[in-house]
Amino acid sequence: MSTIRIDGSQGEGGGQIVRSSLALSLATGTPIVIENIRAGRKRPGLMRQHRTALLAAAEIGHAEVEGAEVGSKSLSFAPQTIAGGDYTFSIGTAGSTTLVLQTIVLALLRADGPSRVQIEGGTHNPFAPPFDYLEKVYVPLLRRMGAEIEITLERPGFYPAGGGVIIVETQPIGRFEPIDLTERGELRKITGRVWLSALPRSIADREIAELCNRMTLDRGAIEVEDVADPVGPGNAVHLQVESDGITELFTTFGEHHVSAERVARNVAEEVRRYLKSGLPVGPYLADQIVLPLALAGGGAFATTAPTRHTKTHIDVIERFLPVRVTETRLDRHHHRFEVEKI
Ligand code: AMP
Repeated sequence: MSTIRIDGSQGEGGGQIVRSSLALSLATGTPIVIENIRAGRKRPGLMRQHRTALLAAAEIGHAEVEGAEVGSKSLSFAPQTIAGGDYTFSIGTAGSTTLVLQTIVLALLRADGPSRVQIEGGTHNPFAPPFDYLEKVYVPLLRRMGAEIEITLERPGFYPAGGGVIIVETQPIGRFEPIDLTERGELRKITGRVWLSALPRSIADREIAELCNRMTLDRGAIEVEDVADPVGPGNAVHLQVESDGITELFTTFGEHHVSAERVARNVAEEVRRYLKSGLPVGPYLADQIVLPLALAGGGAFATTAPTRHTKTHIDVIERFLPVRVTETRLDRHHHRFEVEKI
């Protein structure tokens, strides 16, 4: 199979293009070369978290790899067969476990046998899907596409201390089934979860009070998870929006110098925008669901204006797979994406 060369600086030009190229290389058995890795970023080249994703992909795909050092600006990756099995990958920092998982999980679902993968690092990081997002949104959608997959949070690990562990177990499936995510349907319920790690309970109480103030939400609909035996401080607020057609989840992280009320208001505002849009797929899910749909060779989703992540992902996908992803702009905030085989 001929090698696909990827310019890592194209489009969004960050870690995502590296991860999605690896995921596609594994899924299709195509060798790749990626150049200009994260060229426009403050610290260009591979960071530890991308390197862990690369090494994880290499191990499950028996791949030959060059350029796997931290800071490397180009790499080559040539996978062979995908082997199911028992794996442990450790990022060694608070780098996101969920992003490493998303690099390898689709290939594992199509491996020759079951797998159990343990990934150690951050489970709740800004700029990455938090564990709860995979649990409530991403994994249930993979199940709707036919996947047999379980995901467990063994131990939460908040950025910057990390120290978290996630476990994913997969059974091989023949193929992914296309799904249609163009209708949200009726709203069923909104629930919340506040994570506290090595922080006082009063933070969660203030966040919950503010959420209940801003939205028609019952206090009882929000649970508090106070981490036993925490590695470092952390606070995340999730709001889960369950509708007939889909479940979405929105997150904000507590930060130094940002009041608990502000943290709660930010996530409430994201949910308000989502509800107002009437659309099923939020901006994060759009870039994460397009790859499973492309592997299924079909499906559709409706979302607000697509991010650069989504556009870049589509460009990369179309280089690997015989699919076309067509975007129809129904209005400024309503875009429909359709995936078809060509
Ligand atoms: P990158 O910026 O290339 O490291 O990619 C970040 C990835 O994390 C993208 O796939 C985003 O959709 C995803 N992401 C970032 N923040 C969130 C969030 N709050 N909820 C869900 N996914 C997120």
